[in-house]
This record gives sequence, structure tokens and C-alpha cells, in this order.
Amino acid sequence: MSAVSCFSKDYAEARRKFRAAAAKAGAILKSYPHPEKGPGGEDLATDVARIGSPSAKRVLLIQSATHGVEGFCGSGAQIAWLRGGDWKRLPKGVAVVLVHAINPFGFAWVRRVTQENVDLNRNFPDFRALPKRPAYGEIQPFIFPERWDEASSAARRKAFGAFVAKHGAMALQEAISGGQYGHADGIFYGGHEPTWSHRTFKEIVARYLSKARHVAFVDLHTGLGPYGHGELISMGWPGIGQYDRNCAWYGQAVTSPEAGSSTSAKLVGLMEQALAKMLPDTTVTSVAIEYGTFPTEEVLESLMADNWLHLRGDLASPLGRAIKARIRRAFYPDEDDWKELVALKARLVFRRAAAGLAAS
Ligand SMILES: [Zn+2]
Repeated sequence: MSAVSCFSKDYAEARRKFRAAAAKAGAILKSYPHPEKGPGGEDLATDVARIGSPSAKRVLLIQSATHGVEGFCGSGAQIAWLRGGDWKRLPKGVAVVLVHAINPFGFAWVRRVTQENVDLNRNFPDFRALPKRPAYGEIQPFIFPERWDEASSAARRKAFGAFVAKHGAMALQEAISGGQYGHADGIFYGGHEPTWSHRTFKEIVARYLSKARHVAFVDLHTGLGPYGHGELISMGWPGIGQYDRNCAWYGQAVTSPEAGSSTSAKLVGLMEQALAKMLPDTTVTSVAIEYGTFPTEEVLESLMADNWLHLRGDLASPLGRAIKARIRRAFYPDEDDWKELVALKARLVFRRAAAGLAAS
């Protein structure tokens, strides 16, 4: 099997390949149609494939495109696992649920956010007591300028430089990417209510996971860390169940934002926290694979540009097309070696997750 051929040029191709590979593996497929269309008028949906017994008590949940554009990567990893036949070697009593494109709108439109301009993985806070994120407000005018040009870029560099000099580089990354609830026209905005993708995720959890005793959740991401490296990020601390299980399953390379060992900042409003709350009698072991692409500054800059483009710019203009190419590349390098690294690491992690579940 060629790992490279498991990746796709757009959402529609990814969806076709995923459904075909899942059907060939004998999976039970179900679609959750999305209310909007893709840029080519194509239908959008979240597709779910289940492999193994519906009554399995140990379930491995593998999800792609939580952050839309990152679905180029996650879809390829899921398809590589299916086409590679790893499902034939699942330990007894372990079922797998593959969620393809939980944010199909973002995938199709090459955006990290949902159609509501919301970061899905910040869209699970307590909506009655939203986290306050004052540091983000300070820099929002530079993140979302009136015009996207050299002058606004220079102003942004200056403001960010001053912030870093005062608070440090990780504080700036946390202010930008940690999640914010005050600026609907900003980036890493967590929303004020559940998005379509949030509600769909909950439906999927209720349908596929409510009978499980132990759920392992692997969420596929890109954009942080060294090129092609798949960092395994676990929320929590040493000594806390999930973090310790992740270390036991995947080895000591597991990192944690709370422990300060991850390339990721500390985040709020996470999907995995909602998953654990939804399944109070189930052990939940969540990990994110974060595949590096390009330097963090470039990745963040591409997100600011894309946010500006969709709210204030013109998608059909030369600048609009350049910004879309930029964000696509920032989250999906589209290089053969990168895809091979992604697929290999994903298959190894999925195998370890299944083994960890079986032994639990
Ligand atoms: Zn992500």
C-alpha cells in the first residue's frame, strides 16, 4: 500500500476514499449531513465508520478534521489505517469508531474553524460561565486589522514583539491560541453556544460510545512542532489517570501543556473534557497527535490572514487565493515524505491504543 495515495487533494476526494476504504473493511457506515455546501457546491457530511462488535466494551475513537483544514492529514491517516488492513489485527473485544471530518465545512473550505467561525476544540466550555481571556483582547486589533497589508503586518510584529518582551513567547502563544470567548471575529474563538459540529459530536458519542467501559480517543491535528513529527499530547499531570495511561501506552514521549512539556499552550473548552463528562461511568483516555508542519509564527500568521479574508477580504482576488494557498500549506505541506511520516506514526499510535485498551 502506498501511504501517499491515502491523502487527498480536497474534502470531496477524501470523503470518497474514506467511505470506499471503510466499506471494503466491512465497516458499518453512517453519515451526518451538514446543512451547508462546499466551495464547489458539494455535499458536506461527517461520516462515521464502526468496525467490530457494537457491544464491545473497549472502543477506540479516531477523529479527523476537528480543525477543518487539518483533515487533509487526519483523513489520510484514517484511510492508511483502513487500507493497511490493521483492523484485521484488532485485539479481541476492541471496536474502532472512525469519525471522518467532524468539521466538514472547515475541511472543504480550507479553514481551521467551523461555519460559525468557531474553533471546535474550544467550543466545549461551560457556556454559563465562559472563561475570561483578557490577554487576547489586548492583541485582537493586530490579529484582525482593517486591511491585510505590509503596514498592518509591521504593526502586528511590533505589538507581538512588545508582548513577548514583557510576558514571554509561550504567553503570547497562549494568549492567541488558548481559546477566547470575547471576539467572534477573532481567531481561536470558542463560540457562545454549541456549533453544528459540537452537537454532532455529542450525537456520535451517545450512539457509539454509551455502552463502553473504556474509550480511547485519538484526535488528529497538525500545525505545531517539527516537520512530520507526531507529538502525542495528553492533558493533565503525572500522577493523574489519563496522563499516566497515555505514558504507559505510548511511552515517555507523551507531553502535557499543563506540565509545560508540550509545544501546545494550555487550552480551554476542549472536546475531550466534554467527552469525559458525557461518559461519567467510562474510563476515557484521550490523546492528540500533533503533526508539525512549519514554524508556529507562520502557522498563526496564516490563520490571521484566513480570518481576515473570510470576514473582510475577497476570496476570488489574487490576495484571497494566495491566503488560501498559504493556510492550506501551513496545515498540510502536501509533500510525500510528510505524508509517509504521518501515516506511519498514526498506524503505530492506533495499534498501541488498541493494545492499551485490550489490556485495561
Ligand atoms: Zn488542531
